[in-house]
Amino acid sequence: MNSPGITIAVLAGDDIGPEVVDATVAVLDQAASARGIPITWERLPVGLAAVEDHGSTLPDRTIERLREIPGWILGPVSHYDYPLGDQRYRNPSGYLRKNFELYANLRPSRGWAGVPAVHPDLDVVIVRENTEGFYADRNMLDGNGELRPDEDTVISVRLVTRRASVRVARQAFELARSRDKKKTVTAVHKANVLRRGDGLFLACCREVAADYPDVNFDDYLVDAFAMRLILRPDAHDVVVTTNMFGDILSDEAAGLVGGLGLAPGLNTGDDHAMAQAVHGSAPDISGRGIANPTAEILSGAMLLDWLGRTRGPEVLSAAARDIERAVGVALAEGSKLTPDLGGKAGTTQLTEAIISAL
Ligand code: NAD
Repeated sequence: MNSPGITIAVLAGDDIGPEVVDATVAVLDQAASARGIPITWERLPVGLAAVEDHGSTLPDRTIERLREIPGWILGPVSHYDYPLGDQRYRNPSGYLRKNFELYANLRPSRGWAGVPAVHPDLDVVIVRENTEGFYADRNMLDGNGELRPDEDTVISVRLVTRRASVRVARQAFELARSRDKKKTVTAVHKANVLRRGDGLFLACCREVAADYPDVNFDDYLVDAFAMRLILRPDAHDVVVTTNMFGDILSDEAAGLVGGLGLAPGLNTGDDHAMAQAVHGSAPDISGRGIANPTAEILSGAMLLDWLGRTRGPEVLSAAARDIERAVGVALAEGSKLTPDLGGKAGTTQLTEAIISAL
């Protein structure tokens, strides 16, 4: 008889990566097994720890194995510190997003009871194009999108394609349709200056909007929208935008609801999905046991939901909702908050509070 279990790949990352990923594994393990689905965790080498043993921050054997496994968890990586131009130091995050066509990065931001926030009423999902734009390490087949013709000159090439714009817009409309909110997609762009690139992106969003008459559509220039997020936090639902704008706006949105420690993300493609918190590797607090694991745990819950909806068993989506509820209970109770949320608890204590709320 086939076992009902699933396999999830685990890529721990750098600095606080292993701390928040271990917490995520513990929570997902509990939630899924309580719903009758055991998870087999397959840990694969990645990040600086993989260079010594395997000669690369993203060894070929890791890449090969990931092809076979639909769902992965990636901890943050400290790629700003990776030496430039050294082939051993690939940026795992950018490489995996680009080469596995994880074209939509879903980044929800919402307030939580018990957590002080500038705008507790905010409830948006930023859908960020994930494979091109200004991201120099992923917008060329060969070579790099940053060129340096002489000592004092750099040219950054930005890539916008119809294919990538249409598919990310479709993800945004599907998401808006599934959410019990305003059923609105807002396209954010800079088409007044980047007339061709953002003009194409906006035109693609408009075309896709025509296929979703049940979903409202509007658009804003990114500068105006950055302010609007602060002044009219309740006005938006799903936001679709190009890579760099999405990267920046999702940190802004996270800041409005309690900070990066609470900001989850899921990189989705047609065949694979990768849970990955919005935050980086936080070297300033690494190894102190005080990293907030919530963002990575909620990213893991998004992965379970994706697996439940696209691969089955469906009950994984129920396990995802269990985790969200348990996070809500642990945060609202308030005695196990990490320092970034104004508390005194450590990663382990908050993780245990979430597990006991399950
Ligand atoms: P960062 O997100 O690591 O840290 C910004 C601030 O937020 C720091 O004060 C940090 O302590 C805090 N913070 C972040 N996550 C936290 C958590 N879970 N709990 C409590 N506090 C948390 O951003 P940075 O310092 O600009 O970047 C550090 C490294 O991370 C760089 O090498 C950068 O390239 C990399 N990075 C990686 C990713 C990723 O892998 N997804 C994303 C962004 C940055």
